[in-house]
Amino acid sequence: MIQLFIPLNFLGFIYREIREALTNIERLFGLLGQPVKVADRADAHELEVRGGTVQFDAVSFAYDAQRPILQGVSFEIPAGHTLAIVGPSGAGKSTLARLLFRFYDVGGGAIRIDGQDLRELTQHSLRRAIGVVPQDTVLFNDSIGYNIAYGSPGASEEQIWAALRAAQLEDFVRRLPDGLQTQVGERGLKLSGGEKQRIAIARVLLKNPPILILDEATSSLDTHAERLILEALNAVSARRTTLAIAHRLSTIVHAERILVLDQGRVVEQGTHAQLLAAGGAYARLWADQQRDGA
Ligand code: ADP
Ligand code: MG
Repeated sequence: MIQLFIPLNFLGFIYREIREALTNIERLFGLLGQPVKVADRADAHELEVRGGTVQFDAVSFAYDAQRPILQGVSFEIPAGHTLAIVGPSGAGKSTLARLLFRFYDVGGGAIRIDGQDLRELTQHSLRRAIGVVPQDTVLFNDSIGYNIAYGSPGASEEQIWAALRAAQLEDFVRRLPDGLQTQVGERGLKLSGGEKQRIAIARVLLKNPPILILDEATSSLDTHAERLILEALNAVSARRTTLAIAHRLSTIVHAERILVLDQGRVVEQGTHAQLLAAGGAYARLWADQQRDGA
């Protein structure tokens, strides 16, 4: 009985792990139903992170050949620094994030981390080095603790609480009757968009990757929730190489460098003050959002 039970249970565990890993990664980028396009080369090597400088070098990309999406996009994020990306919907911002996570290979040019071309690396070593806070966080139908420790096997309860604290969620979870064991998701406690996002932030903090992608991480929140998230995000992006895709320009006013993407091209870059003074695409986006109260 025991002999039969253990292997079946173990297989179920493996099955669940694999299924959830796939679901998670695909949902992260809104790719459900689409085949993942890349494969490791036979001679692929492990990414060796030495600080985490990210370089896009004349990157071109198209989902289908008839319609170019990115055209000659170049920028560098020095190790430990943050680059904010803004631009109208459909400009190609999330595509940049998908390419950095290597859901697709570039059509032309190259993406490098500390000088290593992503195409020469194992996907496993690349993805281990990158944390993503997506626009819409999908939680597993499991406990809060499971959802946070996902991606960090062997994390202690103490480390989970530290991540919750930095993500501005500690008090919230302490007040729940079952604490870390509280079930969430479709069959459990319903969480607000902001709470789910802070869980994603806690997950990334626990994973502690050198490189971070934030994709419109505060887009659908009210001002109070946004303030909490921004504090949490500042904790995550400090000392990490960060690609921060922003919807509301109000969230990146203090960014050290902002890059404006339009129709797959870099059209401007600078600080908020420089870009406003330039009176171009950024200044128009800013004026639109001020008027709409976004
Ligand atoms: P943004 O994040 O700036 O709003 P995206 O990078 O998501 O823009 O999309 C850029 C363009 O690529 C859009 O025109 C979008 O319709 C198109 N696109 C995005 N994903 C796919 C896909 N999987 N297949 C085909 N076209 C896509
Ligand atoms: Mg997007």
